Amino acid sequence: MVPRTLFGPEHEEFRKNVRRFFAEEIMPHHDRWEEQQHIDRKVWNRAGELGFLCLTIPEEYGGMGADRLYSTVLMEEQTFAGASGVGFSVHSDIIANYIFNFGTEAQKKHWLPKMASGEAVGAVAMTEPGTGSDLQAIKARAVKDGDDYVINGSKIFITNGYLADIVVVAVKTGESGEGAKDVSLILVEADRPGFSKAKPLKKVGMKAQDTCELFFENVRVPQSNLLGTKEGMGFVMLMKELAWERLIIAILSIAGADAALKTTLEYTRNRKVFGKPVASYQNSRFKLAEMKAEIAIGQVFVDRCLELQLKNKLGADAAAAAKYWTSDLLCKVVDECVQLHGGYGYMLEYPIARAYIDSRASRIYGGTNEIMKELIARTM
Ligand SMILES: Cc1cc2nc3c(=O)[nH]c(=O)nc-3n(C[C@H](O)[C@H](O)[C@H](O)COP(=O)(O)OP(=O)(O)OC[C@H]3O[C@@H](n4cnc5c(N)ncnc54)[C@H](O)[C@@H]3O)c2cc1C
Repeated sequence: MVPRTLFGPEHEEFRKNVRRFFAEEIMPHHDRWEEQQHIDRKVWNRAGELGFLCLTIPEEYGGMGADRLYSTVLMEEQTFAGASGVGFSVHSDIIANYIFNFGTEAQKKHWLPKMASGEAVGAVAMTEPGTGSDLQAIKARAVKDGDDYVINGSKIFITNGYLADIVVVAVKTGESGEGAKDVSLILVEADRPGFSKAKPLKKVGMKAQDTCELFFENVRVPQSNLLGTKEGMGFVMLMKELAWERLIIAILSIAGADAALKTTLEYTRNRKVFGKPVASYQNSRFKLAEMKAEIAIGQVFVDRCLELQLKNKLGADAAAAAKYWTSDLLCKVVDECVQLHGGYGYMLEYPIARAYIDSRASRIYGGTNEIMKELIARTM
């Protein structure tokens, strides 16, 4: 409806390659992965081989040194394909950034090339069974002992947790009582004694994406695994890329809404009731038109946020608005689209039914939509 202007021919060329990858190497296996509740480990290596991981990380650390429009293309194509099991964006666009932005040279040289090649899978573990929205209330703790930290605690709902080789873990290191100042981020290798993973959690949707509980029982890591120049920088580091992380969810959400509308348009044009296509009834036409208009309006906002993000000028309030509004829109659109499919919309062999169960989490993760509104309200 409104032409998009951000992408150049090089991004569109990349889009074709990514689209082929999802169609040929991801989707044929997705049903099996949904059964086993995680993708095959070798998919990470294959994505690395094709240069699809850590796109924005500079080449000297194994990445592609690309701009965030390439990440956007990858996220959009993943969503259009319906590949909800693949946790590439958390790995490449969130965890790799923590290490790149705040890691020591040794940490960067050690982890980033492995993450770019798929040899190491990354996860970030903040949420705990007792707290999610209120991160200052985390209980996991790292205590200094000689040259090490000894970590105790547990984390829940961790994307890529089951296959993770390296986890950025939010822990309490201080006792100041001033919440934020006591939180640090520490890199924990998955093969450290005392670190264990539960089986992937059984979720409502996104069933092929491994989401898991992690346990830390007297896990020893060297103090050189601390991210940042000193303890207590956890929140400062989390804040640095928060706008981008929320925009990621908006990019995925608006692409998901667009995909839902496209599949519904096709379905309603082909499905006949009372001798006429479903799409020809005025109610259907109005619903489809409303969705098209709202998605176009949302896309313009997301693209404008992306433009600001490319210049490092995206505000936290705009990112929060993009996250909450587009994920709400996604759920509304998908629900309408299920209705337009009739009974088939409730059958998991139809993409729209998958979208229905996959989309719900977007209003919860990355900070719930209530927290987004709280953040916006604070700026008023
Ligand atoms: C599929 C999936 C993947 C995830 N991946 C990760 C991951 O990789 N790493 C990670 O660390 N976490 C991850 N999470 C966890 C996610 O970030 C948390 O679930 C989320 O932040 C909410 O925390 P909670 O579940 O503890 O809910 P709670 O904080 O207990 O919230 C419960 C309800 O209270 C509301 N609420 C809370 N505070 C307020 C307030 N101040 N005002 C109004 N309402 C409020 C919330 O909006 C919500 O509706 C994932 C979750 C899911 C579902």
